[in-house]
Amino acid sequence: MLPERVSVLVAGAGPAGMMAAIAAAEAGAGDVHVLETTAEPLHKVLISGGGRCNVTHACWDPRALVGHYPRGGQALRGAFSRFASGDAVAWFEAHGLELVEEPDGRLFPRANRSTAVIEVLRNAATAAGVQLHTGVGLRQALLLDAGGFDLELRRSAGQQQQQQQRLFAQRLVLATGSHPSGRQLAAQLGHRLVPPVPSLFTLSLAGDPLLQLAGLAVDPVAVELRLAAQECPPPPGASRAAGPLAERFRQQGPLLVTHWGLSGPAILRLTAFAARALHAASYRAELRVNWTGNLSHSDLEQYFGQARQQQARRQLANWRPWPELPKRLWWHLLQHCGIDLQCRWADLSKQQQQALISSLRDSRYTVTGRGPFGEEFVTAGGVPLGEVNIASMESRLCPGLHLVGELLDVDGITGGFNFQHCWSSGWLAGQAIAAARQQLV
Ligand SMILES: Cc1cc2nc3c(=O)[nH]c(=O)nc-3n(C[C@H](O)[C@H](O)[C@H](O)COP(=O)(O)OP(=O)(O)OC[C@H]3O[C@@H](n4cnc5c(N)ncnc54)[C@H](O)[C@@H]3O)c2cc1C
Repeated sequence: MLPERVSVLVAGAGPAGMMAAIAAAEAGAGDVHVLETTAEPLHKVLISGGGRCNVTHACWDPRALVGHYPRGGQALRGAFSRFASGDAVAWFEAHGLELVEEPDGRLFPRANRSTAVIEVLRNAATAAGVQLHTGVGLRQALLLDAGGFDLELRRSAGQQQQQQQRLFAQRLVLATGSHPSGRQLAAQLGHRLVPPVPSLFTLSLAGDPLLQLAGLAVDPVAVELRLAAQECPPPPGASRAAGPLAERFRQQGPLLVTHWGLSGPAILRLTAFAARALHAASYRAELRVNWTGNLSHSDLEQYFGQARQQQARRQLANWRPWPELPKRLWWHLLQHCGIDLQCRWADLSKQQQQALISSLRDSRYTVTGRGPFGEEFVTAGGVPLGEVNIASMESRLCPGLHLVGELLDVDGITGGFNFQHCWSSGWLAGQAIAAARQQLV
């Protein structure tokens, strides 16, 4: 049983809720209680980053950091100017967790396991006096005229205690992630909801001969997604080419061919920025791949010219125009252009060379749907950021209510940016709650 009156109630023991609770309790917000509907707080932290937890990203400048949020973007500038990646690293270090940077900028716990992050958050919560109640969900919330909230809690089935309880909380934090119950609560308290759609997923290219190359990784490639629909405006940070008919999204980076289609950072970033447009187009689109990354047409003509002169007697199958071009991809493109693998470089016609160069720079694939797995699964949509005060994460519509984490219409690309938003929004909410209490005392 919880007390009948509490200072702060946080619904949801994910990263955003735990950070909000710890920050509030450490800063003197009074008694802080966290409800978690399941038996396992921080479950997504446990499974994150392949069990290693990509805690944040070495992107220290808030102006650069906002560019990694297809939804959120510039509107997060104020939040990150108060608590960004560097602050998260310092916060975790101060609480006993050292983070290590990988060459691509992702930061992981030195222990290289997500349980280390969970231990630190749970220990910090205990040390700050936060009370965690598992198997209890927030069901209803009503803002009272005199301030504070009348709340109805429900215990998960099978527990001995009373199934339902009402209580009063002076401050309420909704940190329920993408769970529908949190969205219902936000709506009950007067918020609009941007409909949820998946973000950060892989692309399916059902039946395409490219799938024979499953396991192939190419870095860098440039990818461009073209969609017929024009449902939504270009998200901040997305590079979208002008054009009256098609909506286009572009990215560059590593790409991985899978058994069902394409994955890898370039594709995950592409699908994050194009999440809404892809959803509107029922995940049907054209994908153009420049397998050379950023080599120009004249660079390629030069490579081909050199190979024809210097390797004239060699077969195409045995000599690639440049050594970094993966052999399997080269053979695949030769076959795709109908060119015999045994053909000698001296015998490659001008037309064949042009066909190969255009396949290397502009191979076109039909996207047939979303792939079955993403590296990080996040939901775009939720409570619009414009409905919260970004400095405190307090609702502009419902005083005393704070909204944090994935419940908001904010999501980042892969690389630790989603957790970073949880740390930032949670910390800001916690600080603001404590500051408000100190003004009252
Ligand atoms: C497989 C996977 C890997 C990922 N890896 C990474 C990564 O390495 N780095 C990264 O930055 N991001 C990663 N993400 C994304 C990241 O996990 C989410 O962005 C993040 O967990 C969102 O945090 P949150 O606290 O807002 O919500 P959640 O983590 O979803 O937590 C919300 C909690 O609230 C509880 N809850 C819901 N409704 C109620 C209610 N009514 N009452 C009480 N409790 C309730 C839920 O049970 C849940 O525990 C990954 C996601 C997945 C799925």
